[in-house]
Amino acid sequence: MSLRPETEVQFVKGVGPKLGTLLQKRGIYNVYDLLHYYPRSYEDRRAIHSISSLQPDQLVSLKARVVKVRSIPLGRSKRSMYEVLITDGSGQVSCKFFRAPYKGYFERFQPHQEVRLVGKLTEYKGRKEFHHPDLHPISEEEEIENILFPIYIETEGLSSKKIRAIVEKALELEEKDPFPDWLLKKYELLAEKEALRLVHFPDSDIAEQYLNFRAPAQRRIIFQELFWMEMQIALRRQGLKKEKAYALKFNGDLRDKVIKGLPFQLTDAQLKAIEEIEMDMIEAHPMHRMVQGDVGSGKTLVAFLTAADAMEAGVQAAIMAPTEILAEQHYKNAKKIFEPLGVTVGLLTSQLKAAEKQKQLEDLKSGKIQFMVGTHALIQKDVHFKNLGFVVIDEQHRFGVEQRQELKQKGIFPHFLVMTATPIPRTLAMTVYGDLDVTIINEMPKGRQPIVTRKAFDSKRPQMMEFVREQLKKGRQAYIVYPLIEESEAIDLKNATEEFEKLKTIFSEYKLGLLHGKMKPKEKEEIMNQFRQNEIQVLVSTTVIEVGVDVPNANIILIEHAERFGLAQLHQLRGRVGRGEHKSYCILALGYALSEEAVKRAEIMESTLDGFKIAEQDLLIRGPGEFLGKRQSGLPGFKMANLIRDLPILHEARSAVKDLLAKDAKLAKDEHYLVKRRLEIQAQNWVG
Ligand code: ADP
Ligand code: MG
Repeated sequence: MSLRPETEVQFVKGVGPKLGTLLQKRGIYNVYDLLHYYPRSYEDRRAIHSISSLQPDQLVSLKARVVKVRSIPLGRSKRSMYEVLITDGSGQVSCKFFRAPYKGYFERFQPHQEVRLVGKLTEYKGRKEFHHPDLHPISEEEEIENILFPIYIETEGLSSKKIRAIVEKALELEEKDPFPDWLLKKYELLAEKEALRLVHFPDSDIAEQYLNFRAPAQRRIIFQELFWMEMQIALRRQGLKKEKAYALKFNGDLRDKVIKGLPFQLTDAQLKAIEEIEMDMIEAHPMHRMVQGDVGSGKTLVAFLTAADAMEAGVQAAIMAPTEILAEQHYKNAKKIFEPLGVTVGLLTSQLKAAEKQKQLEDLKSGKIQFMVGTHALIQKDVHFKNLGFVVIDEQHRFGVEQRQELKQKGIFPHFLVMTATPIPRTLAMTVYGDLDVTIINEMPKGRQPIVTRKAFDSKRPQMMEFVREQLKKGRQAYIVYPLIEESEAIDLKNATEEFEKLKTIFSEYKLGLLHGKMKPKEKEEIMNQFRQNEIQVLVSTTVIEVGVDVPNANIILIEHAERFGLAQLHQLRGRVGRGEHKSYCILALGYALSEEAVKRAEIMESTLDGFKIAEQDLLIRGPGEFLGKRQSGLPGFKMANLIRDLPILHEARSAVKDLLAKDAKLAKDEHYLVKRRLEIQAQNWVG
């Protein structure tokens, strides 16, 4: 039987039902999956390092002997970490695992057992150690010297050696290269099958290139993954151009009336953003635009003003927020701005009483409500608009795209605006949000004073509290934020509820409010209202206040256990202050048992207020997947490509997509048939 990409994996020679099941557990169902199960790294067996000469951050191969294996309980929790201590005669080094890679993993290592290690050496509190290295017991038969050896992510019963053996068989498949000849030539790409073979069976002569993911075989695979992604983006864009929307007609009268009533001047960046959005709204196909502006840059107003244009043109506008608190805030602001001008504003959240909700739905359907504010409840099944023409999604980043899909399924094609404060470097934005046009607000409203950020250790607690009190005395308000914690994880963190009681005695002359995710929406709303009206001076909260909340009189935020937060989150939290004319402060309270990374994060926060700079640093520390969040990012599941490391290849792939679509926009030519077919498969699982 000849092998095809879709042939099930148990029909590959040497696999069979038992191994087949094991492979399926790893997501390997067919020949295609198997060939695309790439080594996660390579071991250069010619360059063996000795333990005594190791340098931090260096990727190394070692041959050593196990001294001992032990598990170390982690604090008071049930979890433990594992340590494998190894020696090569020149010295000893510890390999730490914070969880077992798979069941039975550590049972493979006995004292005196010979092992091979590939990994990056880290320095932790002045000690050199490996964290989660690739560690293999050496068995005689496997011992091959002087070659570049691929290392796969292994599971029980599935060794790198085994994977190699079956991949070799799978390479006998019959499959033509999906790329046309002209493309292979122009971009100097290896044939796909050849590339696959060389990825699994690398050429030792160019070991250096392999280790840096720059071997021709790797370049082809990376190119291909990025090509599929760019292709999907380009096609989605083409699709958008075909959709119809209201070409809105307005003079900007309503917008100008709103502007006249504002107590401040719009920034140039806000004006420019409005202009760009308006240019899209007059088109007969839907706008699909993202406004990216740092926290506090005044995005809401831009949304409201362009919504005013839409309403002037006679269609309904809606704004959707990720939390009830934020929806409530927008509703209040919208009412204040629009109702004096005769515009009816509605609010739709999941916590409305049945009768109230019914009324809102009727008024929405009849067109009485012109501006609708809400949470995700806005796009539920029972919601019908009269003529929705303009939708804003606030603070939802990538989710915005999904919600657009939901509206589309209802047969609604409004102009679509996504507001985000997640600042991401431009190159990455083009990729991740490639199907959105981007408007950047790169200017803060005038009169804002820079927020002063300081990290402080636990021993300085009394001083921190005194500092907060000084601000309260001046009539300001404060946030005190705690990380969210799971009761089950018995980690010694300060729980917001417990601390709340203590804080009440510390600040006994003020009124304090507590806000956390488990409270009923009504209760949350009540607390937020009191805080907004300065009936509460200190808001003690978990991260539910993270996005969007705007109380300009609050000028100090104390973030407890700041080491538990990522940079993006810290930046968002800090953005709750510095929203008015008062000088503002952010205190990062650090617990003990800090990692170097946590201290570094705090220092980055101290050094800059610029969301883009912070994002860049975050990317460096965590990599794009983590940084954007899996769900949010909409990033395809790359198997080899890395958006930071492979940026130059990304540019090439993008240019190849342009070439192809210029030649054959519909992919109708015979030589492009396979590209089309692969894309159809890609669309389903979004991988290369
Ligand atoms: P974000 O971009 O984080 O969503 P907001 O829209 O919440 O920011 O605006 C932050 C604060 O700045 C709000 O109180 C808003 O009224 C105010 N604001 C917006 N634009 C201006 C401006 N041009 N000048 C002064 N204050 C402004
Ligand atoms: Mg906002």
